[in-house]
Amino acid sequence: MEGKIRTILGDIKPEELGYTMAHEHILDDPSVGGFMDEDHRLNDYDKAKEMLQIYKGIGGKGIAEASTKHWGRNTAGMISLAKETGINIVCCTGYLCENQVNMDEWVGNKTIDELEEEMIKEVTEGMDGTNAKAGWIKGGTSYDYISKREEKILRAAARASIKTGAPVHTHTSTGTMGLEQIAIMSEEGLDLSHFCLAHVDRNPDYWYHKKMLEKGVYLIYDGPGKAKYYTDEVRVELLKKLVKDGYEDRIMFSNDMGKRSHHLVYGKGPGLVYIKEKWLPRLLDEGFTEEQIRKFMVDNPARFYTMYKGTKYE
Ligand SMILES: [Zn+2]
Repeated sequence: MEGKIRTILGDIKPEELGYTMAHEHILDDPSVGGFMDEDHRLNDYDKAKEMLQIYKGIGGKGIAEASTKHWGRNTAGMISLAKETGINIVCCTGYLCENQVNMDEWVGNKTIDELEEEMIKEVTEGMDGTNAKAGWIKGGTSYDYISKREEKILRAAARASIKTGAPVHTHTSTGTMGLEQIAIMSEEGLDLSHFCLAHVDRNPDYWYHKKMLEKGVYLIYDGPGKAKYYTDEVRVELLKKLVKDGYEDRIMFSNDMGKRSHHLVYGKGPGLVYIKEKWLPRLLDEGFTEEQIRKFMVDNPARFYTMYKGTKYE
């Protein structure tokens, strides 16, 4: 594969990324951005390190870290974690959605140009006063609507992506507004094979997922095991249909564990082992192939997170 993946410790070849959780939270402190829930503060460095060591023990190699600046992204801590554990951590620039965090202070009245400039700087120069660069650009939308600021962020993300080659990966609230996000990316001229939507399995609607995939985007299913919403059977049946439709090269998995109570090291679960130990064996049992599993966990993340070519910052 050509191109490179921009990890927090520098660029690597796509084939070096390895088994990857496509949307996770390892070390952050959302109280920085005014999100005050104690359970969401993943701010214990030693626990984060232990988390990654457990992950490494089951064959984990890559993590896309989805904590943005206003979610208390800890760049210095993440640099040390990558050095100490050898995990390929790919961090993000950009912002989350407005119904989860107050953007008055962090986004305010910034223009699309200003937001774009800030994103480009974090991808090409470094984040938070370090020279560790972001490897992807985040945007997000609220539940069933897109605020003015969210739209500005999405447009800035598309423009910064086109200039830097860093892929765009967004938060959807309960899986809604995906087609609307795609329309904005298209308007901005983004090649949709560099666009990915997370949390879409919170809205497990076959027609809707197929319509998004038809546009050429990637989807992340990051809810396996979260039975409080619905059973994994729903995800499995959806995946069977989408794979039959030919989309096995466009789907990635993760567990989006943004709370202490999601992690083994904080005494809870399911932890970074769930996908490997429970979800993938189940997929094999339900008729999926080893090759498809490899695509979901290794090949698709490697292709998606590759900085694409032909940009002025290459
Ligand atoms: Zn997340």
